[in-house]
Amino acid sequence: MDPNTLERRCPRLGGSVNFSYCQTCGNRKGPCFKIFDCWWESFDVVEYLKKRLSTEEFTKLAEGRPRPKMTSLLEIIEQARQNIESSKK
Ligand code: SF4
Repeated sequence: MDPNTLERRCPRLGGSVNFSYCQTCGNRKGPCFKIFDCWWESFDVVEYLKKRLSTEEFTKLAEGRPRPKMTSLLEIIEQARQNIESSKK
């Protein structure tokens, strides 16, 4: 199976894109930061990209993944709680 022939609905664009688009986002700047989240259910996208990117590029892409919204919300709530605590002192 050639992953480049696979298509899915893009949550960022709202339309259908194929995997080859996701590898460049149409501008040759490299893979989309959501490429793991969007494609892991379709095929082994991690292994595919590991074979095609340099270690540096792969690490940068993997570390650049956005944090889950719940994690961010919990951090904001904790920060607000700490601000309230410190303002009481
Ligand atoms: S990887 Fe990026 S460009 Fe591709 S479908 Fe997901 S959000 Fe859209």
